Amino acid sequence: MEKKKLAIIGSGPAGYTAAIYAARANLSPILYEGFMTGPSGGQLMTTTEVENYPGFPEGILGPELMMNFRSQSARFGTQILTEDVESVDLSKRPFVVRGTSTHIEAEAIIIATGATAKRLDIEGARDGEFWQKGVTACAVCDGAAPIFKNRPLFVIGGGDSAVEEAIFLTKYGSRVYIVHRRDALRASKIMAQRALKHPKIEILWNSGIEKISGDQVVRKVHLKNFNDGKIEEREAGGVFFAIGHQPNTEFLKGQLEMNPTGYLIVKNGSTRTSCEGVFACGDVQDPTYRQAVTAAGTGCMAALDAERWLSEMESE
Ligand code: NAP
Repeated sequence: MEKKKLAIIGSGPAGYTAAIYAARANLSPILYEGFMTGPSGGQLMTTTEVENYPGFPEGILGPELMMNFRSQSARFGTQILTEDVESVDLSKRPFVVRGTSTHIEAEAIIIATGATAKRLDIEGARDGEFWQKGVTACAVCDGAAPIFKNRPLFVIGGGDSAVEEAIFLTKYGSRVYIVHRRDALRASKIMAQRALKHPKIEILWNSGIEKISGDQVVRKVHLKNFNDGKIEEREAGGVFFAIGHQPNTEFLKGQLEMNPTGYLIVKNGSTRTSCEGVFACGDVQDPTYRQAVTAAGTGCMAALDAERWLSEMESE
């Protein structure tokens, strides 16, 4: 089995930044960018303009930014594998990383597998029903599709994502409804105000979508009011889930300490996980900030932590 100093799993801003720093520190990292698990580049590959990443005063397209990250990591000698990691064995060192076609041993590992948007199991929203035919979990990726144009659109959730997606969708839909299960938004005050004031947005409080129906595409939602239990049918062109994210840590269960929702726990002020020699960065360990720039920042931290740990091991 090929032996590597450092394996990096994940190819968002965190993984690539870790690779840039590790490659420049002569650690010859190998980076698994994924294949079936989603596009190389992570969540920014499914966004349009990124306006808050410092250094780009005019903004930059998400995919372009991520291609830059990738090229920069390759330029310094990162070996990039276009495959998924199926499992890791962290029970002894060197660790074993089993990819779809490559098995390697690694002295240290950086986990940067990010998080994936959550979906609800509603009748009509499942695979083979209206999923990706009017039901999606990413307004920014799919909102411009012709099926949503001038139709009533429904966003489920009450956080910043729901508000952000609803505002984004006002460019396309005839009207946008935020369907929220409670009577108050979780979103930050400034975002909540934007939604409440927006002439094209209406918030349906204490409500949920029970069923989505249609023909080739979504035509109706069946809304339930949780206060009185009444069900109401409304015309609909699309349903967008904005109910948070699930960290991609399934393959690490039982091997690394996680919080109850599956986010990796890192030691205060560092990227060290519960297993010595394994580091975590980006959204996989961050339920709070979840920004490209914070992911990149923790990616840098993970590479520095790994480099220091590896040199301590060598000098022992
Ligand atoms: P979030 O803050 O966790 O909000 C998720 C929302 O979905 C909540 O309103 C929650 O309802 C609802 N929800 C969860 N499970 C549900 C279910 N099973 N059925 C119905 N509703 C459900 O997630 P987020 O909005 O993705 O934001 C995550 C983090 O990213 C936050 O820290 C946020 O501030 C940040 N963020 C910031 C921006 C920005 O500043 N521009 C944009 C996006 C995200 P309850 O309220 O009842 O729990």
